[in-house]
Amino acid sequence: MQMTPLLAAGYYYGGGYRYGFYGMDWTYLLVLAGFVLCLIAQGLVSSAFNKYSRVSAMSGRTGAETAEELLRSQGIFDVDVQRVDGNLTDHYDPKNKVLRLSASVYGSSSVAAVSVAAHECGHAVQHHLGYAPLSIRTAIVPVVNIAQTISWPLILIGFLINSRMSTLLLEIGVLMFAAVVLFQLITLPVEFDASRRGRRMLEETHILYENEIAGTKAVLRAAALTYVAGALSSILQLIRIILLTGGRRRD
Ligand SMILES: [Zn+2]
Repeated sequence: MQMTPLLAAGYYYGGGYRYGFYGMDWTYLLVLAGFVLCLIAQGLVSSAFNKYSRVSAMSGRTGAETAEELLRSQGIFDVDVQRVDGNLTDHYDPKNKVLRLSASVYGSSSVAAVSVAAHECGHAVQHHLGYAPLSIRTAIVPVVNIAQTISWPLILIGFLINSRMSTLLLEIGVLMFAAVVLFQLITLPVEFDASRRGRRMLEETHILYENEIAGTKAVLRAAALTYVAGALSSILQLIRIILLTGGRRRD
């Protein structure tokens, strides 16, 4: 959720601008709104995860055991389940066919742990079945990484220098940032679908009881919200940059 470079950037072209209001750049409020949205979403996911981390699933299976069983239930035998450092760092790595679970998921048999493990299995199933949005997402990751790295420096330099080059730099920078936003939008259906698949697998294999599934829904819904907030915040940043660069071009 690339907040930091943006907050820094705000200081550069904030003051004394044509959008200035008593020396303040009001478009900066768009960034703050996005930032607050992300904070709220993060808070919700943490609280849902913490709540259901304290609820032990009746099956007694850990996140890792759940993942192994769910993958087998879908006829997937070539995906490794491994432990990874960090908090909420769980992910499926399609390149190496590895499902990595954080310590609080891997060895825990809480409803939260089992739910997160099931969600990651949902990604493995997407990969196994060639689910198109995941394929597109995986294919554009390298391009998006480059775009994400250079979009802000280009926009900053475009604002700072005063030559014919600056418009070109700004336009390329904005296009690159738009590509990052597009990537975040493609991520949404991939995440929603993985949660749906994960929940269905837990129901079908009876690893969780029906009353425990309510916890799964709460945890995965909160997790999905962080992706929605991230995408919204990026859209707000993009709108702001377009407003600012539009003003720059008319100067
Ligand atoms: Zn996911």
